Amino acid sequence: MATRKKQPAARRAGLIFGDLWEFDPAPETADPKLKARYDLFIGGKFVRPRSGRTFDSINPANERKLAEIALAGAADVNAAYAAGAKAFGPWSALSGRERGKYLFRIARLLQDRAREFAVAETMDGGKPIKESRDFDVPMAAAHFFYHAGWADKLEYVAPGRSVAPLGVVGQVIPWNFPLLMLAWKLAPALAMGNCVVLKPAETTSITALKLAEILQDAGLPDGVVNFVTGAGETGALVMGHPSAAKVAFTGSTEVGKAIMRQLAGTDRRMTMELGGKAANIVFDDAPIDQAVEGIVNGIFFNQGHVCCAGSRLLVHEPVADQVIAKLKARIRVLRVGDPLDKNTDLGAINSAAQLATIRRLVAAGVSEGAVKYQPPCILPEKGFYFPPTLFTGVTQSHRIAREEIFGPVLSILTFRTVDEAVEKANNTPYGLSAGVWTDKGSRILRMSTELKAGVVWANTFNRFDPSSPFGGYKESGFGREGGRQGLLDYAKLT
Ligand code: NAD
Repeated sequence: MATRKKQPAARRAGLIFGDLWEFDPAPETADPKLKARYDLFIGGKFVRPRSGRTFDSINPANERKLAEIALAGAADVNAAYAAGAKAFGPWSALSGRERGKYLFRIARLLQDRAREFAVAETMDGGKPIKESRDFDVPMAAAHFFYHAGWADKLEYVAPGRSVAPLGVVGQVIPWNFPLLMLAWKLAPALAMGNCVVLKPAETTSITALKLAEILQDAGLPDGVVNFVTGAGETGALVMGHPSAAKVAFTGSTEVGKAIMRQLAGTDRRMTMELGGKAANIVFDDAPIDQAVEGIVNGIFFNQGHVCCAGSRLLVHEPVADQVIAKLKARIRVLRVGDPLDKNTDLGAINSAAQLATIRRLVAAGVSEGAVKYQPPCILPEKGFYFPPTLFTGVTQSHRIAREEIFGPVLSILTFRTVDEAVEKANNTPYGLSAGVWTDKGSRILRMSTELKAGVVWANTFNRFDPSSPFGGYKESGFGREGGRQGLLDYAKLT
């Protein structure tokens, strides 16, 4: 039942429902079934790290320790690749139909344990339970289902050519969508007949290790998938391993460049899914209320920890005041707090380090002269939180318009003509995604041709589907995940 909050008269005058009423707590109660300690998953078994080292995974919502995680060193990464190499022959020799059965099983087992996985994901990473429950876990299962469907139809991936798997592939993923990024990487690699050594991000290893339990339950042959946990040093060992037939990396542009330097001079195949600074462009003929929802979803989904977040709002001058006023009213009713509460809109920032990065860039925005707006908002005392933030008066040269903040911070710029919108949108080293809000189909077609971005959404934002290839231009990387194109990145063509 809702209870009435005491509010100052000035705020009551606004008569915004969410400002006047508070929800009772609605915590998700499913048991995430966490273990106190997670070992490495190599050769189908959980094994102690040969390095003898471990690290803690904490809950960013309250800074409490969740579990102790094994830290893989060089000997562990070698063992993982050896297990993959041993499994590769029989796995790649299976018919696609047989491989597909394993993928279907993984997808169904994940669906069976969906609530448990959603709670574990939220506790480990800080994202609101409604997102892990309604987006991350179902989308991860959808990727396994989709690629299970491809496994016995590989002759149609490249019509007129034959496809073959590459071998053991090394994969490293980030912390913003831990289970989903894992599914994006594992499912196409396995459908094509490859084996995998994957490293999750150090702040969010738990759902990968829980998925290892599912792989065991699905009867996946030993060594087809191996998980090694640890931080950047372990990641460099996975990416640089001489037995890797291909490496696939998702993470920051900075680390992506370091990996490319590390592998320069080798003939290693690679795909890079890197950072972004997407423009979300609102024209004066756009359906304004829907656009405001799209802008909010574009930047505040997952606390803005989204590579394709619409972090630069480009708004047509005639409607700029109207859009900004509506945005301010809208973010005043966003609920920031306990990620396990079903009514929470913005959960915890993933780590203390990420919170420090956000604070540093927001301070730069203020000192460079942009105007900051944050709604009144009481943040929990423990844990890592940041309020939804808008900056107006932003120019192209501001750091907050150029650098990826990866937090709930929107930089607002304006434009007068279509050409100016295109020029401003493309004026970035990144090119992952963009959004266009307009009533005119012809304008959507023109913008989607001229915007240098891997994905252009029209009158929507942050829409994903396993059949739809995702990936970047310029410093946002190369290669695609999802669809036929994503499968081709794990195949040898003959
Ligand atoms: P990050 O680059 O710091 O880390 C990503 C992963 O790389 C982690 O697992 C980390 O341990 C590992 N790593 C760190 N140093 C390494 C090294 N030298 N060699 C190999 N691995 C190393 O990125 P992050 O902070 O975890 O994630 C946020 C970034 O990921 C953002 O820039 C975001 O835009 C990007 N991202 C991109 C996509 C995409 O599809 N393009 C999707 C999600 C996130």
